[in-house]
Amino acid sequence: MKAKVAINGYGTIGKRVADAVAAQDDMEIVGVVKTRPSFEARIATEKGYDVYTNSQENIASFNKSGIEVSGTIDELLDKADIVVDATPGNLGGEYKKLYQKHGVKAVWQGGEDHELAGFSFNSEANYKDAVGLDFARVVSCNTTGLIRVLYPLDKKYGIRKARVTLMRRATDPGDIKKGPINALVPDPVKLPSHHGPDVNSILPNIDITSVGVKTSTTLMHLHAVNIELKQTCVEDDIISLLGGRPRIRLVNSKDGIKSTAEAMELAKDLGRPRGDMWENILWKDSISIDKGELYLFQAIHQESDVVPENVDAIRAMLGLEKDGAKSIMKTNKALGITA
Ligand code: NAD
Repeated sequence: MKAKVAINGYGTIGKRVADAVAAQDDMEIVGVVKTRPSFEARIATEKGYDVYTNSQENIASFNKSGIEVSGTIDELLDKADIVVDATPGNLGGEYKKLYQKHGVKAVWQGGEDHELAGFSFNSEANYKDAVGLDFARVVSCNTTGLIRVLYPLDKKYGIRKARVTLMRRATDPGDIKKGPINALVPDPVKLPSHHGPDVNSILPNIDITSVGVKTSTTLMHLHAVNIELKQTCVEDDIISLLGGRPRIRLVNSKDGIKSTAEAMELAKDLGRPRGDMWENILWKDSISIDKGELYLFQAIHQESDVVPENVDAIRAMLGLEKDGAKSIMKTNKALGITA
């Protein structure tokens, strides 16, 4: 029997996780929660997802709009084994009580604090520790992208210190409200950005400091990474280590992928749903060892890199698969990730 998954918060992340779960053979979507009868709610019903809403009052507005609504979140949670909470950050605390009341496991996203779940998740770094847990938090898009690089490097060569500059997209492409639209914004102005400490929620022993700059783009984040390793190695060692990771796609600027724009074009050419790029895009020809330190550039598709991690978190927490590497392969195969 397939595991029953509910999605609360069917926006940028929630709708993608729903489709990724529906693509797996060991889990299914039992319903998604929408607050308003928007076009996304209509498309969810067209895709065959049962749409629920978060209050009795909202049922009336769904009925008025003609979009079929199956009931309230309480009714959905009674049918689910686990809920993926992809509501906007900081609503998690309120919903935690509801999930506990219904006895469902919950996966939160990076907008929530580590303390809410008490466990932060990354598929390669700590899958086995998530097996059987009731609560977990999939770390943010940037933290996921960083850990995919830092974890294997630390395991193989040891990281003495990591210094990261994150050039962050201003907002997601579907958002017409946030900016900047013509500026570069140090964010925060004073060290550190929250990303380094967030990496430490999974890899506590890594000495990492990060700075962030908000940029006038919606496509992807760009990371400039500088790492001092404990053991000596050459560029080819790094290429073969990172090139062998299941969710890192090495690209070459000489092939015409010189920017986040072309990285997104690659995702579209690969026929990815919504033009998503689930893997880190890491420039092979950026990998350099200079004065004994490693440098590289990578781009992160903020709307989608956490999606396969959510699928793995569900599998671990429900004990559907105890071996993280097998879950990663299974998720990747179902989604068509061949990096
Ligand atoms: P979003 O705004 O695109 O989607 C949130 C959805 O939740 C919307 O559909 C909204 O209508 C709905 N919602 C609002 N209030 C609700 C409520 N009370 N109950 C149920 N649903 C409610 O947000 P998002 O970008 O998908 O972010 C969701 C989470 O994922 C956040 O924690 C965020 O930090 C994290 N995250 C976002 C990104 C990103 O780049 N967008 C990347 C990684 C992680």
